[in-house]
Amino acid sequence: MKSFDLTGRVAIVTGGNGGIGLGMARGLAAAGAKVVVAGRNKDKSAAAAKEIRGDAIEVDVKSEASLKSLIAETVKRHARLDILVNNAGINIRKQPQEYTLAEYHEVMNTNLTSAFNCSQLAYPEMKKAGGGKIINIGSMMSIFGASFTAPYATSKGGIVQMSRAMACAWAKDNIQVNCVLPGWIDTDLTRGARKQIEGLHERVLARTPAGRWGDPGDFAGIAVFLASPSSDFITGTAIPVDGGYSVQG
Ligand code: NDP
Repeated sequence: MKSFDLTGRVAIVTGGNGGIGLGMARGLAAAGAKVVVAGRNKDKSAAAAKEIRGDAIEVDVKSEASLKSLIAETVKRHARLDILVNNAGINIRKQPQEYTLAEYHEVMNTNLTSAFNCSQLAYPEMKKAGGGKIINIGSMMSIFGASFTAPYATSKGGIVQMSRAMACAWAKDNIQVNCVLPGWIDTDLTRGARKQIEGLHERVLARTPAGRWGDPGDFAGIAVFLASPSSDFITGTAIPVDGGYSVQG
């Protein structure tokens, strides 16, 4: 299984200290990568890094200066950068007419602009390393709409298109850019949603052919696949990991 081996590769996972990001970080580490867990909460990041024998670097993905220092510090400590997972994300749930513009920008900056910026900053390092893998996290809201999530859906639709454009630009540098579209996954983010939206838990169960909510562990395999030489001819795609949610008629 050499084509899945990540020994010697260096990965950054933004928001890798919990939820889906930690599920991916665990997979990458198990396949041999040195993983930098990049989050805001120092304690959470330190615990995650310890568990996967990785490293933790504090970042606020909304800040260009903070992203610059994340990339520089990663390369300083680990000499290269091969894999970037743009996973950090938030949601603010309201009807479209109720958002302030500041709330809209908060969601867009965290979920989409950060991924653009971090990918831009990672590009020269990946080029130097002879190639790279960028994995962006979309959502079912990259495909569908929902009344309570207009800025989030905007960011998650945008990240798919951004991935396609970057995939076209950077294929010549042997950098593959792909998106993962999680279905409904049991994390801190959706625990909040379930509290806020009555009946959500049951609606998700009823619509998901797999008959369950997803678990962060469901993301280890796709992370390894998209980070490894096994996916070298796959770029610009958006792959649902959703227990069949998006194909249920
Ligand atoms: P969590 O709330 O568990 O994790 C979100 C992560 O993002 C945390 O690790 C958090 O780190 C980090 N984060 C948020 N804001 C910032 C910031 N400004 N700077 C640095 N890190 C930040 O949620 P999930 O694991 O569910 O979400 C992960 C990704 O998956 C998101 O992009 C989300 O939109 C997407 N997704 C999730 C779905 C689900 O059902 N759970 C479905 C579809 C997509 P810290 O705690 O340190 O702030």
